[in-house]
Amino acid sequence: MAKIEMKTPLVEMDGDEMTRILWKMIKDELILPFVDLKTEYYDLGLKARNDSDDKITFDAAEATKKYGVAVKCATITPNAARVEEYNLKQMWKSPNGTIRSILDGTVFRTPISVKGIEPNVKTWVKPITLARHAYGDVYKNSEMKIDGPGKAELVFTAADGTVTRETIHEFDGPGIIQGIHNTEKSIKSFARCCFNYAIDEKKDIWFATKDTISKKYDHTFKDIFQEIFDAEYKAKFDELGIEYFYTLIDDAVARVVKAEGGFIWACKNYDGDVMSDMVSSACGSLAMMTSVLVSPDGKYEYEAAHGTVQRHYYKHLKGEKTSTNSVATIFAWSGALRKRGELDNIPELVEYAGNLEKATLETIESGKMTGDLARITSLENAETLGSEEFILAIKDRLNELQK
Ligand code: NAP
Ligand code: MG
Repeated sequence: MAKIEMKTPLVEMDGDEMTRILWKMIKDELILPFVDLKTEYYDLGLKARNDSDDKITFDAAEATKKYGVAVKCATITPNAARVEEYNLKQMWKSPNGTIRSILDGTVFRTPISVKGIEPNVKTWVKPITLARHAYGDVYKNSEMKIDGPGKAELVFTAADGTVTRETIHEFDGPGIIQGIHNTEKSIKSFARCCFNYAIDEKKDIWFATKDTISKKYDHTFKDIFQEIFDAEYKAKFDELGIEYFYTLIDDAVARVVKAEGGFIWACKNYDGDVMSDMVSSACGSLAMMTSVLVSPDGKYEYEAAHGTVQRHYYKHLKGEKTSTNSVATIFAWSGALRKRGELDNIPELVEYAGNLEKATLETIESGKMTGDLARITSLENAETLGSEEFILAIKDRLNELQK
């Protein structure tokens, strides 16, 4: 059969350790036999980042801005141990952080549902997508420990020298204080990313903050979302029959655990951090979750939500058999290829992406899966396959579907 032709290259960001091993297997077995793959390749493996003084990461992010769609393998974020292990020139920053700040994006994460791996929350029959604002708040804070009595104040000095003060607290003993911020620009781009994604996915979107208590900070998030929605998105939402729904965060949490799912839940940075861990854990495994970074001007970077699975990699290096779940990495590829197909109007590529996902899920549903899933599945005939065996089992199904 003729291979599917591509028009625009995909930005391919290779990575580290076990996921780098999976990356090559996925390309060799599941993609290259079917697609005449066009990529612009960036090696974000730690050695190449170190050799290029991390320029390669910046180049990869710029290429994503140029071409619009990227697929990224998990990468090591160096710590002191990695500096020694890889003899690094310095403790390079997280590539995800670098890419996020260049693309100014919002991260969307959705559990991958499959028969045999049921969510712990019985009412969830459709996946819940978490949209996490990735800038500011407590992640860019400044904090102080207060040793004894005194007055803590918020002080803002405007560019023209005007000073505004607000008392935080008059301490009569030791305590703690924290200053956090966000910017109107970042909140606006968060809102637009969320609304665009809801339109793309044709799903309702919920947003929640603690605006009753935080009457300026959280209320500003609420107001900006509402203004942008009314001015730019309401008509399109009405046309598609989807809804924007704002509620208080307490109410949202209570509703989410009783809902049937199928919507996008937009969260401020901290809420998104903890709630995405809650949703993914309740759905079984980090390797059963898609993750895509979307920029306000419509650039997409697809990745797996998990790390480089270091423990499995060291087993692999010792020649031992591994059973590492490649589903999230496969879905990063299928997501990116589908998006490329949609943008370039290549229906066969869109169909192939759908078949790749279908083959993956059907393989699991037939009882063939990796160890992490075999441990939690409700299927009785579950068989634990090795990393490569699992990919080859998917290939068998894909061959049938692509006939
Ligand atoms: P991790 O790679 O996500 O793995 C943590 C544990 O979760 C694994 O040891 C494994 O448990 C299980 N696991 C994760 N993914 C799995 C998969 N695909 N199949 C089967 N089991 C899976 O996190 P980490 O070990 O904390 O981090 C390793 C490296 O990844 C670090 O250098 C970190 O900087 C990097 N990291 C990168 C990203 C990214 O690029 N997006 C994200 C997070 C971390 P068992 O060992 O019990 O089998
Ligand atoms: Mg977290």
